[in-house]
Amino acid sequence: MNQSNDVCETKSIDLFPVKEFLKKYKPGEWIYPAVIQRNLKLYAKDAYAALDALCEEGLIEQYYRIYCPYCQQYLNQFFRVVNEIPAEIFCEDCDNEITNPLEKTYLVYRMLKQN
Ligand SMILES: [Zn+2]
Repeated sequence: MNQSNDVCETKSIDLFPVKEFLKKYKPGEWIYPAVIQRNLKLYAKDAYAALDALCEEGLIEQYYRIYCPYCQQYLNQFFRVVNEIPAEIFCEDCDNEITNPLEKTYLVYRMLKQN
Protein backbone atom coordinates (compact mmCIF):
# COMPACT_ATOMS: atom_id res chain seq x y z
CA MET A 1 0.00 0.00 0.00
CA ASN A 2 2.85 2.29 0.75
CA GLN A 3 3.42 3.66 -2.69
CA SER A 4 6.76 5.36 -2.70
CA ASN A 5 6.99 8.21 -5.09
CA ASP A 6 10.55 9.07 -5.92
CA VAL A 7 9.67 11.50 -8.67
CA CYS A 8 11.12 14.73 -7.47
CA GLU A 9 9.01 17.85 -7.48
CA THR A 10 10.78 19.55 -10.34
CA LYS A 11 10.22 16.56 -12.63
CA SER A 12 6.49 17.13 -12.54
CA ILE A 13 6.70 20.43 -14.39
CA ASP A 14 4.55 20.50 -17.45
CA LEU A 15 6.81 21.52 -20.30
CA PHE A 16 3.95 21.99 -22.74
CA PRO A 17 3.01 25.59 -21.82
CA VAL A 18 6.70 26.52 -21.75
CA LYS A 19 7.19 25.11 -25.24
CA GLU A 20 4.07 26.90 -26.44
CA PHE A 21 5.36 30.17 -25.05
CA LEU A 22 8.76 29.64 -26.67
CA LYS A 23 7.13 29.37 -30.09
CA LYS A 24 7.26 33.12 -30.40
CA TYR A 25 11.05 33.08 -30.15
CA LYS A 26 13.12 32.75 -33.28
CA PRO A 27 16.37 30.77 -33.36
CA GLY A 28 19.17 32.85 -31.88
CA GLU A 29 16.90 34.94 -29.68
CA TRP A 30 17.55 35.23 -25.98
CA ILE A 31 15.20 33.84 -23.43
CA TYR A 32 15.26 35.32 -19.95
CA PRO A 33 14.08 33.04 -17.16
CA ALA A 34 12.29 35.96 -15.46
CA VAL A 35 10.13 36.41 -18.57
CA ILE A 36 9.18 32.73 -18.56
CA GLN A 37 8.53 32.89 -14.85
CA ARG A 38 6.31 35.96 -15.12
CA ASN A 39 4.33 34.98 -18.18
CA LEU A 40 3.69 31.40 -17.14
CA LYS A 41 3.32 32.23 -13.46
CA LEU A 42 5.97 29.77 -12.39
CA TYR A 43 8.23 29.74 -9.39
CA ALA A 44 11.80 30.66 -10.26
CA LYS A 45 13.04 27.15 -9.56
CA ASP A 46 10.36 25.68 -11.81
CA ALA A 47 11.18 28.08 -14.62
CA TYR A 48 14.85 27.10 -14.42
CA ALA A 49 13.99 23.42 -14.19
CA ALA A 50 11.78 23.66 -17.27
CA LEU A 51 14.47 25.54 -19.19
CA ASP A 52 17.05 22.95 -18.14
CA ALA A 53 14.84 20.17 -19.40
CA LEU A 54 14.48 21.97 -22.74
CA CYS A 55 18.27 22.31 -22.93
CA GLU A 56 18.47 18.54 -22.62
CA GLU A 57 15.98 18.26 -25.44
CA GLY A 58 18.23 20.45 -27.58
CA LEU A 59 15.64 23.16 -28.05
CA ILE A 60 17.59 25.86 -26.26
CA GLU A 61 21.12 26.45 -25.05
CA GLN A 62 22.26 27.81 -21.70
CA TYR A 63 24.63 30.77 -21.37
CA TYR A 64 25.92 33.01 -18.65
CA ARG A 65 25.63 36.75 -19.02
CA ILE A 66 26.87 39.50 -16.78
CA TYR A 67 24.63 42.32 -15.73
CA CYS A 68 26.22 45.73 -15.38
CA PRO A 69 25.15 47.27 -12.06
CA TYR A 70 26.04 50.76 -13.33
CA CYS A 71 24.05 51.01 -16.52
CA GLN A 72 21.71 48.15 -15.72
CA GLN A 73 22.22 46.27 -18.92
CA TYR A 74 23.55 42.88 -19.84
CA LEU A 75 27.04 42.92 -21.25
CA ASN A 76 27.37 41.83 -24.83
CA GLN A 77 29.46 38.85 -23.86
CA PHE A 78 28.19 35.35 -23.45
CA PHE A 79 29.88 32.54 -21.62
CA ARG A 80 29.14 28.87 -22.03
CA VAL A 81 30.79 27.91 -18.75
CA VAL A 82 31.44 29.80 -15.54
CA ASN A 83 35.18 29.17 -15.90
CA GLU A 84 35.29 31.37 -18.98
CA ILE A 85 34.23 34.45 -17.03
CA PRO A 86 37.28 36.62 -16.40
CA ALA A 87 37.98 37.96 -12.92
CA GLU A 88 38.23 41.46 -14.35
CA ILE A 89 35.67 42.63 -16.77
CA PHE A 90 34.68 46.04 -18.07
CA CYS A 91 31.30 47.10 -19.27
CA GLU A 92 31.48 48.00 -22.97
CA ASP A 93 28.75 50.60 -22.51
CA CYS A 94 29.74 52.61 -19.45
CA ASP A 95 33.36 51.43 -19.21
CA ASN A 96 33.07 50.74 -15.49
CA GLU A 97 34.91 47.77 -14.10
CA ILE A 98 32.57 45.12 -12.86
CA THR A 99 34.06 43.69 -9.73
CA ASN A 100 33.12 40.17 -8.67
CA PRO A 101 31.49 39.45 -12.02
CA LEU A 102 30.37 36.04 -10.78
CA GLU A 103 28.00 37.74 -8.38
CA LYS A 104 26.43 39.59 -11.32
CA THR A 105 26.14 36.56 -13.52
CA TYR A 106 22.76 35.37 -14.70
CA LEU A 107 21.65 32.37 -16.64
CA VAL A 108 20.08 33.09 -19.97
CA TYR A 109 18.96 30.76 -22.70
CA ARG A 110 19.20 30.98 -26.44
CA MET A 111 16.68 29.56 -28.82
CA LEU A 112 18.31 26.95 -31.04
CA LYS A 113 15.49 25.83 -33.27
CA GLN A 114 11.81 26.33 -33.80
CA ASN A 115 9.76 23.80 -31.86
ZN1 LIG B 1 27.69 49.49 -17.77
